[in-house]
Amino acid sequence: MNNQDKLIQQIADRKEVCWINKEKKEYAQVRSILPLKKVDIDEASRRLKRFAPFLEECFPETRKNHGLIESPFTSIPETKASLLKNGFQLPEGRLYIKQDNCLDIAGSVKARGGVYEVLKVAEDIAIKEGIITENADYAVLKTKKDVFKKYKIQVGSTGNLGLSIGIMSAAIGFEVTVHMSSDAKQWKKDLLRQKGVKVIEYDSDYSMAVAEGRKAAEKDALCHFVDDEHSKDLFLGYAVAAERLKRQFEEQGIVVDEKHPLFVYLPCGVGGAPGGITFGLKEVFGEAVHCFFVEPVECPCMVLGLASKKHEQISIKDVGLSGKTAADGLAVGRCSSLSADMMEYVLDGEITVSDKVLNKYMRILEEANGIFIEPSSCAAFAGYTGMAKFKEAKDYIEENNLGSYMKNAVHVLWATGGSLVPESIREKYRNDEW
Ligand SMILES: *Cc1c(COP(=O)(O)O)cnc(C)c1O
Repeated sequence: MNNQDKLIQQIADRKEVCWINKEKKEYAQVRSILPLKKVDIDEASRRLKRFAPFLEECFPETRKNHGLIESPFTSIPETKASLLKNGFQLPEGRLYIKQDNCLDIAGSVKARGGVYEVLKVAEDIAIKEGIITENADYAVLKTKKDVFKKYKIQVGSTGNLGLSIGIMSAAIGFEVTVHMSSDAKQWKKDLLRQKGVKVIEYDSDYSMAVAEGRKAAEKDALCHFVDDEHSKDLFLGYAVAAERLKRQFEEQGIVVDEKHPLFVYLPCGVGGAPGGITFGLKEVFGEAVHCFFVEPVECPCMVLGLASKKHEQISIKDVGLSGKTAADGLAVGRCSSLSADMMEYVLDGEITVSDKVLNKYMRILEEANGIFIEPSSCAAFAGYTGMAKFKEAKDYIEENNLGSYMKNAVHVLWATGGSLVPESIREKYRNDEW
């Protein structure tokens, strides 16, 4: 068996694996051939700024960041100490958490991509309808719901994307429908219905919910379908995170360069959020940033797609996996073709994790630093601990001549969701063995 076949066999056997991307090229060499470019991120960033006055009007909680939806970047040495005390081996360097678990509006990373896409659709319509120009004060849109109400937004979701698209669309005034897969949690459906969002439930998996949504939307010219498997807008909304993180580093005096490497661990579902963030980070930090996706052993669709080079053409079901995981935001059987194409020569690697350790990480973080994150988010920890556990990861550090610089390393757990989880559900998560 060659190495690729061996890895795929391990994936099929539900083993935790570490995959290093041997196709990765120097970022400066590949950026010109990528389907999306830095100018696209800049455009997204400017669009979000145009909408800042509107968001401040509709969502007062965004006023603290002047209408930008952004999350804290937090040092968590207590969590690092607790992990060590609990017997985890860790790589050298400092530990931080990027708290997208408390992003405004949607309480998850989806408040980046999902909100951005809805705003872009709204802007296009508003300009076409002649109610704003790009130089206008967008706060005026708050009074134009009657213009938007004949337009529809639809989306397929395991939960969090639906929350983000649903809440934002309802604020604009769109008629919005969310197609939910069987993995979606009841409280997420309830919350959406409370906000006036139409929720259609399916007995099937995520790809099916997306396909149903896409089909329903195709029949209707006034309907926009948010396509998590292909959308460039979602992807770009996520990518804007990187320039903002750079600003936070500057404020906190954190240096990132070849001698001060940055390691980022990103939970991956369909691949849009971690792919977009990685794209942004590579544009900002180049070779100094090392990005690792993390997926549950039951649905590692991205590592399967990249390692086999089949991208979205292969499903986890093709290797006999169920897709069932407590990390509901990551319960995806087939990766995004856009993200896989963007990451093919860019991503540094992937690590997979079994569900049963996720709530241990959850408890450690909450006890040590008082931060609650949802199960999907906890996957980020497995990337971090994996750097000290897997031989492949240790070889990666050596082969990239990082050994002597690891003491300067900054490790970032990208916490992708959590603040909207109701207390009763949190209590269940804390106590369950998954
Ligand atoms: C959606 C989601 C992810 C992953 O994002 P993808 O774009 O699906 O890869 C990770 N964590 C949480 C909590 C999510 O909701």
